[in-house]
Amino acid sequence: MRAAFPPNLDALAIETDTGLLYSWRDLERATAMLANLLGSLDLPAGARIAVQVEKSVEALLLYLATLRAGFVFLPLNTAYQSAEMAYFIGNAEPAVVVCTDRNFGWISQLAFKAGTQHVFTLNENRTGSLLARAAAQPDQHEVAFKHADELAAIIYTSGTTGRSKGAMLTHGNLLSNAQVLKSYWGWRSLDEGGDVLLHALPIFHVHGLFVAIHGALLSGSQMIWLNQFDPKTVIKKLPEATVFMGVPTLYVRLLAEPGLTREVARHMRLFISGSAPLLIETFKAWQERTGHTILERYGMSETAMITSNPYRESEGARRGGTVGLPLPGVSLRVQDDAGENVAAGEIGNIEVMGPNVFKGYWHMPEKTAEEFTLDGFFKTGDVGKIDAQGYVTIVGRSKDLVISGGYNVYPAEVEGYINELPGVAESAVVGVPHADFGEVGVAVVVAKPGVALESARILVSLKATLANFKVPKQCFVVDALPRNSMGKVQKNVLREQYSA
Ligand code: ATP
Ligand code: MG
Repeated sequence: MRAAFPPNLDALAIETDTGLLYSWRDLERATAMLANLLGSLDLPAGARIAVQVEKSVEALLLYLATLRAGFVFLPLNTAYQSAEMAYFIGNAEPAVVVCTDRNFGWISQLAFKAGTQHVFTLNENRTGSLLARAAAQPDQHEVAFKHADELAAIIYTSGTTGRSKGAMLTHGNLLSNAQVLKSYWGWRSLDEGGDVLLHALPIFHVHGLFVAIHGALLSGSQMIWLNQFDPKTVIKKLPEATVFMGVPTLYVRLLAEPGLTREVARHMRLFISGSAPLLIETFKAWQERTGHTILERYGMSETAMITSNPYRESEGARRGGTVGLPLPGVSLRVQDDAGENVAAGEIGNIEVMGPNVFKGYWHMPEKTAEEFTLDGFFKTGDVGKIDAQGYVTIVGRSKDLVISGGYNVYPAEVEGYINELPGVAESAVVGVPHADFGEVGVAVVVAKPGVALESARILVSLKATLANFKVPKQCFVVDALPRNSMGKVQKNVLREQYSA
């Protein structure tokens, strides 16, 4: 995909927190040189370019160059260590691997064993063999022609519910979603002065790589680029920005800074949250502190974005606790386990269809077949409901559902009540095996700083509010919930820990 209409090639495209400035011409030339380098390697069609590097503008350029040269981009979480990298490289069989100099020794060993032909290095500070080799390449390059159904990227899922799966996304998936979001979220055109995106997310997942970057590039907007999320730097840069995207934990960490005020957010047009549920408390606190209503949206590696709260007031209010309405072009339905649509407001399995939905899981044809219905909908694995106005609320994942004595308990509902109790910062409810009931809920609760919570009192309060089958049978107060590197609570870890 190309930045559609860069303003003037010498205008500023990206400014980094380390003081680097990139014009649109810099992006055009550097991606041409990198694409020429990839093109010179004699790679087979469909070759995967696997990349595990620290966030940098050059890593973004490598992504763009991979698409430009017609290969398949495969970003990997920087937190992955040898066991994970061995799995991903063995599974994806990339023709090219790009890693940091620091990891070159062990990663190149893994890669060559898996049949990779080329291992390059790229470091945060613009050093490494990749750029050194690209420097010798011509800076003109004709963009490879690709059909909409050809692969553009493989994104491994976050591994929240089990082993990560490689979601195969096509050019058509990426482009359709980017175009829909550009218009739905009102990315400003150049005639309107463009937007300024403050980019503080990692770029190995859909959120930071596609949702944020595609919006800015497609609209010819500037980016302020932070290699790492640091709340103080975000607040310092906020007055220069108009759009910010974050996972809920970023919003929580920003709220912990006294420097977050209406004043610093005065030029902001839009704050977007996704990747995990945004607590109502965070949603409200943000409104009070900044005067802005966070727009929450929902998506996944397999589908890019599926739903969004409205951007324009004329299309409806942004409702906290919901993930909004299906995006234009996305069909979303909620079905029971028998495959029948449920009534408005009833809970069931969320299924989607649209030009954004992936081609399948890499090297997992059976799993792919299992996750699609006969009439072509993708089973998201999320459980939720749609209200009469069309707003979607996610109540959990089907794998996290607790079935206690034959009754379905939706963890998100119980967590919602627990989170409202005084002194509670956050909570997670998981099901553990039980001789009589099949499964029972266990609540794992984190207290607000300086508060001493008593588990017995939490259970008493819940008994007074909820039907008995929904009340967790045990409650544990802990310092922190286990999260993966995307900030998602790892319920499988909790289930294991609390299964007697
Ligand atoms: P895995 O599929 O490997 O178990 P994962 O599902 O966490 O991991 P991702 O594709 O990165 O991997 O995340 C998609 C999931 O994130 C969705 O299926 C949904 O459960 C959750 N999610 C995304 N946005 C939201 C949101 N706004 N509110 C609640 N959950 C969300
Ligand atoms: Mg998933």
